[in-house]
Amino acid sequence: MTSEGIGVPREGRFGQWGGRFVPESLVPACMELEEAFNSAWEDADFHAEYETILAHYAGRPTPVYECGRLSHQLGIRVLLKREDLAHTGSHKINNVIGQALLTRRMGKRRMVAETGAGQHGVACATAAALFGLECTVYMGVIDMNRQALNVFRMKLLGAEVRAVESGAKTLKDAVNEALRDWVASVDYTHYCLGSVVGPHPFPTMVREFQRIIGTEARKQCNDILGGEDPDYVVACVGGGSNSAGTFAAFIDTDAKLVGVEAYGGAAISNGNPTVLHGMYSRVLSDANGQILEAHSISAGLDYPGVGPEHAWWGQIGRVDYVTAEDEEVLDAFVLLAKTEGILPALESAHALSWIVREAGKKVPKGSTVLLTLSGRGDKDVEQVSRLLAGEKDGGDFTNGALGGAGS
Ligand SMILES: *Cc1c(COP(=O)(O)O)cnc(C)c1O
Repeated sequence: MTSEGIGVPREGRFGQWGGRFVPESLVPACMELEEAFNSAWEDADFHAEYETILAHYAGRPTPVYECGRLSHQLGIRVLLKREDLAHTGSHKINNVIGQALLTRRMGKRRMVAETGAGQHGVACATAAALFGLECTVYMGVIDMNRQALNVFRMKLLGAEVRAVESGAKTLKDAVNEALRDWVASVDYTHYCLGSVVGPHPFPTMVREFQRIIGTEARKQCNDILGGEDPDYVVACVGGGSNSAGTFAAFIDTDAKLVGVEAYGGAAISNGNPTVLHGMYSRVLSDANGQILEAHSISAGLDYPGVGPEHAWWGQIGRVDYVTAEDEEVLDAFVLLAKTEGILPALESAHALSWIVREAGKKVPKGSTVLLTLSGRGDKDVEQVSRLLAGEKDGGDFTNGALGGAGS
C-alpha cells in the first residue's frame, strides 16, 4: 500500500495516504458514490441547488470579520471566518446538505451517520428533515450518556439514534456500526460521513463540500486586504474537514497554512501510519497497533485518526501541524469572549490559542491572519464554567456534555 506514486492524488490517494480499504461488499457502494459525486460536481444545476440551499437555509456566505480589539491587543490583524453563524452553529451543515442532495440524486431514501458528541448527528438529522429522508444515527452509549441533550435534539428532528455497545462504545465504534449498516442496506441507504476521513471518495468529496469556506474567505480577505491574501491561514483539525475546506482555497497561494490539533488527539503530530475506517492515514495507536482513544476538552477533536490529505500536506510540508493544550485553549476562549463578544467553540479556540501564543513570535507583528472559527461556543459554556472553577476536564462535562460539538 505504500508503493503508490508520491504526489499523484489518484484513486483517492494523497501520496501514499488515503485509498479505499473496505470489504469487497462495500466497493460497489463506494464506486456508486464516487460516480454520483463526480457527475454532480460537474453539473451546474447541482451546484446551483446546493448553493441556493446554503444561501437561503444555512445562511451563507458567512462573514469574514476583522477583529478590532483583539487585533490591537495581539499586534496582528486577525480575520475570523464566521462558520459559527451558519445554521446549526458550525461548518458541518455544508457537508450534510451536499450529501443529502447526493442521497436524493442516487435515488436513495435513507441516510445513516456516526456521531461522537452529537454535532454531526444533529446536522445530519437536520438535513434529513429538510429533504424528507429517513435518518439513523449511530452513537456509542458512553457518548449518549454524556450528550443526552443532543440525543434528544436528533430525535426531535425525526432521526432514530441507535446505541453502540461494541468496543469502547464511542465514536470509533459508531463509525464501524454505521459502515456495517451501510453494507446491509446499500440499495436504499447512503452513509453520510462527517469529516474528510474514511474510504475514497469521502475525503475528497467532503473537502469539496467544505471548500466553500475557503473560496468565500479568500475573496472576502482580498476585499478587506486590498487584493492581498492573508499571511497566515489557521484552522483546528479534528477529522480535518473545516481546515481542509479552508486550506483547499489557499494551497496555491503564498499564505502559511497552520492546522491546530488538540494535544491529546494529535494524529498528525503523534499518530502512526495505520489503516482505520477504510483509509490509510495517521492514527493514534500504541506499540501493539491498538487504536487509542483521543482526549481533549473539546469533543469535536476527539477522533483518533485524521483525514489522509492532511497526512500528505504534513509530509510535504505545505501545512504546519501544531498542537494546543487544554489550558491555553480555555484562555483563548475567554479572550475572544471578552475582547470581541464572540464565544468560540472549544474546537475553534484551539486554533485561536496558537495565534495568541505565536503573535509577535512565529507570527511577526503586523501580519494578517485568517482564522476559521468553525463553530459557536454556546454548547460549551457549562463545561467552560466548570473548567474555570478548576475541575479538570470540566468534570462530568468532559467532551462537551451539554449538547456538544464533535463529529
Ligand atoms: C466537528 C467539529 C470540528 C472538528 O471537525 P473537523 O472535521 O476537523 O472540522 C471542529 N469544530 C467544530 C465546531 C465542530 O463541530
